[in-house]
Amino acid sequence: MNDGGLVRPGDQDAVQAGTRLLAVADGFGPGGAPASAAAVEALKTLDGGTLDPGDVLNALEDAVARAARAVREVAVRTARAGAAGRAEVGTTLTALLWTASRLALVHIGDSRAHVLRDGELFPVTEDHTMTGSLVEEGRLTGEEARSHPGRALLLRALTGSGGHGVPDIRLHDTRPGDRYLLCSDGLSAVVPGERLRSVLAAAPDPASAVRELRARAYAAGAPDHLSCVVAEVAHRAPGG
Ligand code: MG
Repeated sequence: MNDGGLVRPGDQDAVQAGTRLLAVADGFGPGGAPASAAAVEALKTLDGGTLDPGDVLNALEDAVARAARAVREVAVRTARAGAAGRAEVGTTLTALLWTASRLALVHIGDSRAHVLRDGELFPVTEDHTMTGSLVEEGRLTGEEARSHPGRALLLRALTGSGGHGVPDIRLHDTRPGDRYLLCSDGLSAVVPGERLRSVLAAAPDPASAVRELRARAYAAGAPDHLSCVVAEVAHRAPGG
């Protein structure tokens, strides 16, 4: 699901919900929309065909390198078109890739992945923001971070200059029945975690969860573009 929100014009989010790949990217700056689209596009090659489970992290690393290159190319094109100004072009990128038996994560920026397991919602990612690092250090609570002025300051992202840190890439353990939510801050900044949890827990299937989450974001004013993907781990993982 990808939605422009009620307030901001244009749409700088990109989303993919394929057989193996779930991805959300939230672009920023001039060229933010093509940057997020290019980043997700670069990962889509992983969605088809077979993937050696032992090689999944290397495959993700290669795909992320392609995504980073694609974002730099968008920045070059934006600059040539004279639209760049001084603002940096870039995007967040959060994706989960299923192989036969494992789930691999790539994450950079402040889009999020959560998992609903046994009725509880757990974060899979940390925000690469000023406030995210303060929360990790225990200097700020998650609730305080929601209204902190530094919440939108990205410490890491795929950017046009290529100089803003490397993504987290790691394997993640799954269990049958796990529900995964990937979303941009257009959802997570306006719908509280407890509400995300209750919606994910109550929805009969992933598609209804997405519809309900969208409704909740709109009820909260939907001030930003919002993207979200929900997927459930079957007793036999998709494609596995
Ligand atoms: Mg956003």
